Amino acid sequence: MSVVALSGLSQEKLLEWYDEHQRDLPWRKTDDPWAILLSEILLQQTQVSRGLIYWKRMMDTFPTIQSMAESSVDKVLKAWEGAGYYSRARRLHALSQLVMLPSSKEGFDGSLPSSRDALLSLPGIGPYTAAAVSSIAFGQPFACVDGNIRRVMARQHQMTEPSNKEVQSWADEQLVRQRPGDWNQALMELGATICTPKKPQCHLCPVNSSCLGRETATNYPKPKKTKVKEITLWTCVEFDADGNPVIHQRKQDGLFGGLWGPQLIEGQKPGKNGDDDFVGIVSHKLSHRAMNVHVFVSTEQSQKTGRNPSNLALSVLDQKILGLVRESGKGYTPDTKS
Ligand code: SF4
Repeated sequence: MSVVALSGLSQEKLLEWYDEHQRDLPWRKTDDPWAILLSEILLQQTQVSRGLIYWKRMMDTFPTIQSMAESSVDKVLKAWEGAGYYSRARRLHALSQLVMLPSSKEGFDGSLPSSRDALLSLPGIGPYTAAAVSSIAFGQPFACVDGNIRRVMARQHQMTEPSNKEVQSWADEQLVRQRPGDWNQALMELGATICTPKKPQCHLCPVNSSCLGRETATNYPKPKKTKVKEITLWTCVEFDADGNPVIHQRKQDGLFGGLWGPQLIEGQKPGKNGDDDFVGIVSHKLSHRAMNVHVFVSTEQSQKTGRNPSNLALSVLDQKILGLVRESGKGYTPDTKS
């Protein structure tokens, strides 16, 4: 299918609307490329309200790219704790260290590069983030494509399944080259606040006059089916003589890589062992996985050394597991044996 003709959408009206109605977000009040990069990485897969909390926390902890580069990856994961998709945090740390290298060692002398191609060469930066940062932080004429922009485009042109190439071509043609960062953000803001997936407010939309899909907006685009894999796991939490749980750091390249938690074993634990109690089932959803963890707790003191979880980065799933065990009052604690 050829790329759609785009003459209808009023760039002027959309930018006017954005200037007046954009949400008050702190990363829109700065031209610091590091602050803008952090916001773009955090907002992937995360709602703005939650992203705001984590952005503030990350900016407080790592106000500059240098401060992150000089930190350990464990400290970055701790600050990221609860934000999910922890590979983003690990890659951000790797990015900061690469940027701080001198150019003679293929680094960037401590400054984020402004060009899209150089940004694309950094860990964790894909086409969307490269276009967003180069346009918003550096005024470079590159068009972003995300789910919001795809939805606006599909509705404007009554397309049920626009391909990535079609959406990118559309976005490239629409780009206002004098204000590329504002333009990209205006389109995304429209999709996030007015042209929403379930309840678009077409009567408030600044570009409704050009929209072919406004009467049947929710038909466009057709929702993408995501396959969710059900996974059953079990864990048996042990405590040491000080009442600290025995937890270990997960492999960097696996699920919850670099985070700490009790050992999770695939498959449902058969029966009761005699020295452990069943506590309950913790359910946790990721984008492509639904995890059900059968949680047991040992009634015996562990011979291994436990760790204080409050000093370490744990995933939300692991926090739920340890919280459930603590609330149950079951299992070994120093008090039970004294
Ligand atoms: S008119 Fe409605 S469907 Fe069309 S772009 Fe605006 S909000 Fe979306």
